[in-house]
Amino acid sequence: RSVTPTSRTRSPRHENDPEPGRVRVTIRVRPRNVEELSDADYADCVEVQPELKKLKLRKNNWNSEFYKFDEVFAESASQKRIYETVAKPVVESVLNGYNGTVMAYGQTGTGKTYTLGRLGKDDVSERGIMVRALEDIIVNTTPTSDSVEMSFLQLYMESIQDLLAPEKINIPIVEDAKTGEVSVPGATVVKIQDLDHFLQLLQIGEANRLAANTKLNTESSRSHAILMVNIRKSVKNDEETGSSFQENDSKTDRHGNQIPIVRKSKLLIVDLAGSERIDKSGSEGRLLEEAKFINLSLTSLGKCINALAENSPHIPTRDSKLTRLLRDSFGGSARTSLIITIGPSSRHYPETTSTIMFGQRAMKIVNTVKLREEFDYENLCRNLETQMEHLTVEIDR
Ligand code: ADP
Ligand code: MG
Repeated sequence: RSVTPTSRTRSPRHENDPEPGRVRVTIRVRPRNVEELSDADYADCVEVQPELKKLKLRKNNWNSEFYKFDEVFAESASQKRIYETVAKPVVESVLNGYNGTVMAYGQTGTGKTYTLGRLGKDDVSERGIMVRALEDIIVNTTPTSDSVEMSFLQLYMESIQDLLAPEKINIPIVEDAKTGEVSVPGATVVKIQDLDHFLQLLQIGEANRLAANTKLNTESSRSHAILMVNIRKSVKNDEETGSSFQENDSKTDRHGNQIPIVRKSKLLIVDLAGSERIDKSGSEGRLLEEAKFINLSLTSLGKCINALAENSPHIPTRDSKLTRLLRDSFGGSARTSLIITIGPSSRHYPETTSTIMFGQRAMKIVNTVKLREEFDYENLCRNLETQMEHLTVEIDR
């Protein structure tokens, strides 16, 4: 009887999580910078209440608002603590076969890249989410049976550029009509050997990002950086997996051989362009184009978040490259965690307010998480070929 690949929707096993599908939203306030420390007129506009998971936003002495998030982190929060709260649950879920996204949103200079991309070469305690996530993934996969592959992309003015091969620009996004799987097949894909290898690739990507932006005379704050990690993990027969396969699904072929099962999943870590509105007045030529385009991607993300939060039947993901890329990894069928970064200074009160409102809307999104598990036919064929070879050798004898 024929065995068909399967991919079913079900709730993941997160016994301790009463709302497994909701987008997690965390706030991180960065410490005052040198400029702010030496500013005589400096005033904070935020006050963190970590135990209550609340943030107090002060407009002036008479006017404050409170906002509740999943977690609220003060200046003193360590990179380790941030990783464990914001990203680790997503990484665990990705290792169990679900897609997942970790995304940083905030004004330029508030710590998005520090939070996600910090390499921590001199001080491992400074390592950001990307490095810690890969560390976890590498420890929890087996090089002989599993594979971990990455691409590193930049999205600037609706063009995808390969940060591992910067001559590749305008790379198309491809969506599988049947499975809805989104990929960027034109981009460089590298199989990650170990953490040092990953650190090298990340460093190359960062350098290329900087060089590309210097060449164009733009700031990297205007582009989105996207780390895409694809995992193929084989499921062991004796593993208590919480598999979506039912009792009556055949797991053996007609000779009684076990058919290997592989889980495919994808982790996206997205360092978004600065959320500040770009002043279009006075801009012309490319700067004006840029202002429009960057607003397009972030505005479109905002629209999708609103639609998802309102449980709307139509999510306008086709409007921008960013939302098309995120289509199978944000909302709908994936685990998502959003980290909102803000600065403490009251000088940025208006931007900080709009950043916080973005986070508040995202708190309302509930996803249905989908497990992608299928029979590993490639592996099965390889096994059969090996068996055939053995038999042929025996017959020849
Ligand atoms: P963004 O990517 O949002 O533009 P960056 O991550 O580049 O911001 O951070 C701006 C500056 O603030 C950098 O010099 C960074 O090292 C510093 N910074 C940001 N967040 C923190 C933090 N939590 N602790 C210490 N320094 C930080
Ligand atoms: Mg940055």
